[in-house]
Amino acid sequence: MCKFRRVRNVYSCGHGITLPEEEIRCDSEKCKFSPNHPATCVPPQCLRTCWQYHQFPELYSPHIDALCPTCAAAQ
Ligand SMILES: [Zn+2]
Ligand SMILES: [Zn+2]
Ligand SMILES: [Zn+2]
Repeated sequence: MCKFRRVRNVYSCGHGITLPEEEIRCDSEKCKFSPNHPATCVPPQCLRTCWQYHQFPELYSPHIDALCPTCAAAQ
């Protein structure tokens, strides 16, 4: 089932930058958002057989051992 991935880079200066949300696709035929979901599967049947929602988003906050672009530019 598909989900979103949210990445927030945290820099050594303490600032963070949130990257644009990425959509992670699954390959399930039973997921409305999947590329393998049949085009013939439409409501009301789809509502009963398939996932209609994204999974809880994945959150990442990797620490980058550098100044953020704003602080690096101000140096
Ligand atoms: Zn999916
Ligand atoms: Zn469906
Ligand atoms: Zn900074």
